[in-house]
Amino acid sequence: MEYVVRENREISNGIYRLELEFDEIPMPGQFVMINCGGNTLLKRPFSICDHDADKLTIVYQVKGKGTYNLSKVKSLDTLEVTGPHGHGFDVFDKFNNILVIGGGVGIPPLLFLSKKLKAKNLKIALGFKSNVFLVDEFQKYGDVIVTSEDGNTGMKGYITDAIKDDIKNIDIIYGCGPKQMLKAVKDIAEKYDVPCQISVEEHMGCGIGACMTCACETKADVGFHYKKVCQDGPVFWAKEVVL
Ligand SMILES: Cc1cc2nc3c(=O)[nH]c(=O)nc-3n(C[C@H](O)[C@H](O)[C@H](O)COP(=O)(O)OP(=O)(O)OC[C@H]3O[C@@H](n4cnc5c(N)ncnc54)[C@H](O)[C@@H]3O)c2cc1C
Repeated sequence: MEYVVRENREISNGIYRLELEFDEIPMPGQFVMINCGGNTLLKRPFSICDHDADKLTIVYQVKGKGTYNLSKVKSLDTLEVTGPHGHGFDVFDKFNNILVIGGGVGIPPLLFLSKKLKAKNLKIALGFKSNVFLVDEFQKYGDVIVTSEDGNTGMKGYITDAIKDDIKNIDIIYGCGPKQMLKAVKDIAEKYDVPCQISVEEHMGCGIGACMTCACETKADVGFHYKKVCQDGPVFWAKEVVL
């Protein structure tokens, strides 16, 4: 489907916010595949950062050819987009004390999740390398802690170190970010025996379970088996995935 671009602008160093007219209803943690134009053959996957009525927002970092092309798109241009795809975060009514933890460009899908959680006590922990983004929007939904690796904003260091002593009363953890961060989140969840869902990133070809590019190892009753990040995920129970 072709969707009209409402806005595409840089919100932090190399980080862009793209708003599209979009008539599907996504769940938090799902993603869309976008044809970024030029001679990029494969669509690129991006998590849904927000959704309101007929507007969908993604927040992306310029990395290679596809995201560079995307950064040049202007209001009223159209983009070929498929989705929403994948299995997103499960939202449970029974949990009141929730920790949402994200790192870098793993942070965007957690905004849509935080909006949907409506938890009594929502702690939001956001880790950046240096420049921050989306922090003021997260503040609408819970108590936000920020860390940056260079100390530019918030506490200096990794976000997983900043929340270590804060887990005892948490009912569930939701995480998204780089693999090393997710490993640390998974370890913390296991140590304190807290249920935890994480969104995993793998290179993807099709986004609909056909090409098998995004297979990831998961634990089975006996041994291991492979699941497709695009279709079975990107969100999995942390105890299930091998990172
Ligand atoms: C489910 C999912 C959600 C994502 N959500 C976001 C998001 O919200 N914001 C954001 O900035 N980035 C997100 N990414 C990563 C984003 O898809 C890549 O940064 C982007 O595809 C890079 O494309 P490129 O052409 O600029 O870079 P190149 O490196 O030139 O891409 C070459 C190829 O590798 C693939 N690729 C490169 N890096 C990744 C990666 N990290 N994950 C998957 N495929 C990759 C591209 O799709 C392309 O096919 C997500 C990835 C996945 C799997």
